[in-house]
Amino acid sequence: MKRKDIIQPFAYDLGADDQKRERHKARTLRKSQWWKRRLAKGVCHYCGRPFSPNELTMDHIVPISRGGQSTKGNVAPCCKECNNAKKQLLPMEWEQYLQQFNQE
Ligand SMILES: [Zn+2]
Repeated sequence: MKRKDIIQPFAYDLGADDQKRERHKARTLRKSQWWKRRLAKGVCHYCGRPFSPNELTMDHIVPISRGGQSTKGNVAPCCKECNNAKKQLLPMEWEQYLQQFNQE
């Protein structure tokens, strides 16, 4: 084995490439009819409240930064409030945030 072959790229470099690919896939998915139909339903995946389609954004249920992919199973329409809460809250706080909607 040549010395060059021993040196592997750093894990986070691979991660960055993967993340780039998933973000690109997300852009494609956002243009799809499937996504437009989901938006047309006008319901936030998390709080279940009604919104107009232009108030909803595409959210990755498992964030790309944590290894989530841009697949139909991992993206959901999300309102601004939930989107912000998901970004800012710790996983445990986010669970509590979601529970307030389930209690009704
Ligand atoms: Zn919401």
